[in-house]
Amino acid sequence: MKNYPGNLYVVSAPSGAGKSSLVKALMEVDRGIKPSVSHTTRAPRGQEKHGREYYFISEAEFDRMEGRQAFLEYAEVHGNRYGTSREGIERCMNEGDDVILEIDFQGALQVRKQFDNANLIFILPPSWDELRARLMRRGEDSPEVIEKRLANARQEMAQANRFDFVIINELFERALFDLKAIVHAQRLRYAAQRQAREDVFAGLDIP
Ligand code: 5GP
Repeated sequence: MKNYPGNLYVVSAPSGAGKSSLVKALMEVDRGIKPSVSHTTRAPRGQEKHGREYYFISEAEFDRMEGRQAFLEYAEVHGNRYGTSREGIERCMNEGDDVILEIDFQGALQVRKQFDNANLIFILPPSWDELRARLMRRGEDSPEVIEKRLANARQEMAQANRFDFVIINELFERALFDLKAIVHAQRLRYAAQRQAREDVFAGLDIP
């Protein structure tokens, strides 16, 4: 697959590990990273707006997009379908922006097949007790749903070994530091520096 000037970050985690808060905090301090807005067949929750958190579409529309291969990846998660549109992220990356995807592990592994240089990041909670406590504190789910999420978490976390990086979200600020460090390190790669600081290379007569 073609190499784009921008970097692609794919973040997965079990529900309650703090993935969305970390990604949101990263984007607040780093304007060079653009979120990818996924398409989903689930209904909007609370204050969610079409085009902001997700594009909320019908099953039929999802089928049509799937049929015309509009998705870079797609998966069914907790009974709903989710997909990342190929067009949006390729446009961003072509323009040199970094793109971050918050998707489940099945999707992350599909992205890996298409972008060799995607950075796959898995976020872990520090323990089962803490994961359960966070899901309960969130107050969004019934005890049965929490048990289901914990059972899913076991399956999801078993896939962490297929990711490039692992962040343990024990202390939020530390986890955010870790995430920023991963992004920063990619910008120090030879190809990235060569492109960003061609003036320095030219000044130093580096061929
Ligand atoms: P929620 O409905 O709670 O926003 O998300 C449920 C799960 O779907 C989360 O694990 C989230 O990361 C995942 N998800 C959201 N968008 C996508 C997507 O485009 N593709 C895939 N594979 N998973 C997604």
